[in-house]
Amino acid sequence: MTASKKLIVGNWKMNGTRTLAAELAHGAVAAAHDRAEIVLCPSYVHLGVVAPIVADTPVAMGAQNVAVVTASGGAQTGDIAAPMLKDMGCTYVICGHSERRAQHGETSADVRGQAQAALAAGMTPIICVGETAADREAGREFDVVKADILGSLPDGVDPAAVIIAYEPVWAISGGDPNKPPARLEDIVAMMGYMRKTLQQHLANSDALRMLYGASVKPDNATAILCASYVDGVLVGGAALKADAFAGIIAAARI
Ligand code: PEP
Repeated sequence: MTASKKLIVGNWKMNGTRTLAAELAHGAVAAAHDRAEIVLCPSYVHLGVVAPIVADTPVAMGAQNVAVVTASGGAQTGDIAAPMLKDMGCTYVICGHSERRAQHGETSADVRGQAQAALAAGMTPIICVGETAADREAGREFDVVKADILGSLPDGVDPAAVIIAYEPVWAISGGDPNKPPARLEDIVAMMGYMRKTLQQHLANSDALRMLYGASVKPDNATAILCASYVDGVLVGGAALKADAFAGIIAAARI
């Protein structure tokens, strides 16, 4: 499905101060318009800064990860349960970002558990999938992404309640503002394949929204948001500058 509004998600990763978090949140609220849905994903420690700024605005808040439990509490030092995030005002949770998969060994089975926990708490999981440079060089990018999708999606999930973000790992900026995104033809080829895969495995799958993420910036956002199969974008580095993120939000006026 190509949603009428584009979804623009900012993933701040392990960045920011309370001051920057407030500045970015105010900037996103000021940039909001009725052609875009906006979600800010600060670090856990800044959720409490962002929540009051985006409350009663069109801007939503998400977390960057969640524990694989559905209980609201427990003896898990350092973990955060889904009901705690919901209680802070989160309505979205990023699950299975490539940095979590690579740096913390999170598997697709873990990601599926995170997505289930988010859903059980009434939040929308944004499940990240994507191939590495080595996968692409070996010609296995379609197989890897298919395995990520089928391994991470909860069984019998309502397609309208979950989002999948295609993030080619090799194109993620890693803080390099000059890194280019994947080529449009490669984005469309992969996301078309993802759509076909979903249609083969999930009833009513066209209700599931798909994002592209990796090196999205104001100067390439319009082209990416206009590409087939792209219902929105997941933004890392450019989400850390209020002007750049506003430029991406503006690009969704299409
Ligand atoms: C990301 O890592 O989710 C991401 C999209 O990062 P960037 O926009 O910096 O490539």
